[in-house]
Parts: sequence; C-alpha cells; structure tokens
Amino acid sequence: MPLHQPDVLIMGGGVIGLTTALCLADKGLSISLLDRQSTGQEASWAGAGMLPPGNLQNATTPEARLRSYSHSLWAGFSQRLLEQTGIDNGYRVCGAVNVFNKDEGNLLMAQSQAWTDEGVRFHLLTSNEAIQYVPDLNPAFESTVYLPDFAQVRNPRHLQALRAACLQKGVEIIEHVSEVNLVAADNRILQARLPNRILSFATLCVTAGSWSTSILQSLGVEIPVRPIRGQIVQLQLNKLPFNCVIEHGRQYLVPRQDGLILVGSTQEDVGFEKKNTAEGIAQLLEFAVSLVPTLRHAEVVRCWSGLRPASPDELPTLGAVPGLSNVFVGAGHFRSGLQMSPGTAAILADVICGSETVVSMEGLAADRF
Ligand SMILES: Cc1cc2nc3c(=O)[nH]c(=O)nc-3n(C[C@H](O)[C@H](O)[C@H](O)COP(=O)(O)OP(=O)(O)OC[C@H]3O[C@@H](n4cnc5c(N)ncnc54)[C@H](O)[C@@H]3O)c2cc1C
Repeated sequence: MPLHQPDVLIMGGGVIGLTTALCLADKGLSISLLDRQSTGQEASWAGAGMLPPGNLQNATTPEARLRSYSHSLWAGFSQRLLEQTGIDNGYRVCGAVNVFNKDEGNLLMAQSQAWTDEGVRFHLLTSNEAIQYVPDLNPAFESTVYLPDFAQVRNPRHLQALRAACLQKGVEIIEHVSEVNLVAADNRILQARLPNRILSFATLCVTAGSWSTSILQSLGVEIPVRPIRGQIVQLQLNKLPFNCVIEHGRQYLVPRQDGLILVGSTQEDVGFEKKNTAEGIAQLLEFAVSLVPTLRHAEVVRCWSGLRPASPDELPTLGAVPGLSNVFVGAGHFRSGLQMSPGTAAILADVICGSETVVSMEGLAADRF
C-alpha cells in the first residue's frame, strides 16, 4: 500500500481543522487533512457567522482572551485569504444592536459592566437612536445597546476560501474517508490506515467538532464534547430593513448584504439528530416577527440545522491530549467556533510547533476535565 508521511495529520475539516492546517502550512510543515465527507459541511457551514468584538489588552477570562485574540486577527486574515485565493469571505464590520426587555435590567447591567471592564465599545441608545439602526424595531423593548465593532462573515464562503488557500499551500485534503484505523505504539499514534493507503505522521491533531470525543475515545482518551443542535431559518426581503446584527439573548437576526436574513437559533440537546422541526421553525419565525414586524412580509427561503460542539463548560479544548505524546485537540467551541477560529488555529499551530502561544491557554487545556 502507498505510504505518505506528512508532518501532521489533521482529522476533521471544519473551520477549526482548515484554519489550523493553513497556519501549520504557513510554518512550513507538510499537512494532510482528513475528513469523512467533503470539508466544511457541518457546524462551520451551518453557523450564522457572527463575530463579536473583544479587546485583548483587558481580556481576563479564557473566553475573552480567545475571542479578543481572534477579533484582532479577523480583518487581516480575511484580506490575506482574498489576496491569496480571490474568494471574498464577506467579512464586514456591521455593528450589532442588542435589545433587552423590561425584565432584563440585571442582565443589561451585568453585560454593560463586562463590556466596560473589557474595553469593548458600546453605546446605550435612546429609542430615537435605536430606530436609526432598526427603523421597524418593536418599541416594546425597554433598552437597546449598540456595539459598533461587531462583525460578520459569510461562513460558507470563508470555508471555500480556507480550502482553496490550504490547497495552494500544499495541504493534502483527503475527503470521504469513513474507515480509518489509527495505529498506536506506547503513548504515540503512529499511523492512519485508510482503505487504499497508509499515512505515517509525527503529529495527529483532532479537530472533528462534535465527533472529536468518539475519535479520542478510540485512542483511550476521554475529552467530553457533545452535539447541541441549532436551527436557522433564512428569510429574504427586496430591501434589507436593517444592516446590523440584532441580538436578543441567544436569538438573533443576521442581515446579509444581498437581502438575506438569518434567524437563529435554537439550542437543543438531542444528540446527533440534524433536522429542522416545526416547533423550532415556529419559534424562530415568531421571534423574528415580534422583534422586527416588517419581517412578516419576508419570503422564507430555506432552513437548516447544525451541531454545535459543546464542552461541559462551553469553552473550547485546545492543545496536548493527556497521555498521548504526539496528539493534539481543538474542539468544543460551541456557539463561537467561527469567531474563535483564527485565534484557535494560531494557538494550536504554536503548541504543535513547540512555540510560546500569543495568549495564555489557561482554562482551555484538555487536562481540565
Ligand atoms: C445554528 C448555528 C449557528 C452558529 N452561529 C455561530 C456564529 O454566529 N458565530 C460563531 O462563531 N459560531 C457559530 N456557531 C458555532 C460554530 O459553527 C461552531 O463552533 C464551529 O463551526 C465548530 O467548528 P469545528 O471545525 O470544530 O466543527 P465542524 O464544523 O462540525 O467540523 C467538524 C468536521 O469533522 C469532520 N469529521 C467528523 N467525524 C470525523 C472523522 N471520524 N474523521 C474525519 N473527520 C471527521 C466532519 O465531517 C466535519 O467536517 C453556530 C453553530 C450553529 C449550529
């Protein structure tokens, strides 16, 4: 059987695996990336592409550090992908309006304090100011806040750009491989035996989203990541009624410049069942129309669902896998894997190369479970 010897084998080609592959290829390593289907078809495709802001200087929690670090990378990374591949990933700073009803005063205070402490720019809006951003906003909301640095990306386009950039940098992408036998010796994983070839590598990196746990279990390691379903409905209007993201708690509206509006999202602990339900869609449509009543005229274009990879503490797990000397993991990004992907990949690439990471990995390492 043919033998190929990459420096690193990456298992899982979502946004985390593809971005990590690119970062490692940038460092001069030879990379093979394996997916059991086409790359970029799971959570990374299904997501809404919201990129909340951060401020690395004042970030004190593991979540804030990774979000802020990623925030500092997004604009430059998008430009680099455009120059390298000619694919525009649709990154744009669109701002976000967050709305709070009258029972959510405490939440508003806590959130405002967190933004202030971190140095994230936000403005409390008067009702007159709010309707300048969202003319048809339901006036029942007590308070509205504007975040000018909130951005978004067209994630399916971003995945295409990542894939193209990886191929240009010599990353070997091996797709539609469901049968893989990982061969171990002592505390190392040495080979992946595929039906028609053998990959022999120095390092294995598992970035398989919600499926990471089962791959790692097959290596005798327990790192908990479970799927949490999110449904999205896509609407369309001839003219967008607002240009910024609108968030109410964990639900949101994301306008795309071509008139599409994403309504998201549900959060359901239903295992690996990826489907849309009548209840989920009804809930999202009710939310959308109650927030911006003009949306009752919108065309329903389609709906989809995806499986967010969730750790028990809702934080990603990054770095060395305990007990295996050449295995690394990047998984469990839950609701923030798109936003956190540039920072995650930079950190993983540094850890794999034995370099110091730009931000501390405290609170994110795999041995915390
Ligand atoms: C509805 C919804 C809305 C979201 N909105 C946002 C948002 O606005 N902003 C944000 O930052 N995040 C958002 N997210 C979260 C984000 O999408 C995820 O955190 C992120 O995509 C996870 O990326 P991943 O690469 O880890 O996993 P995935 O994208 O799921 O990729 C995992 C890959 O591993 C492959 N794989 C599985 N098993 C194997 C195997 N045995 N061998 C090889 N490959 C395998 C899969 O085929 C897949 O390609 C949203 C998610 C959903 C579902």
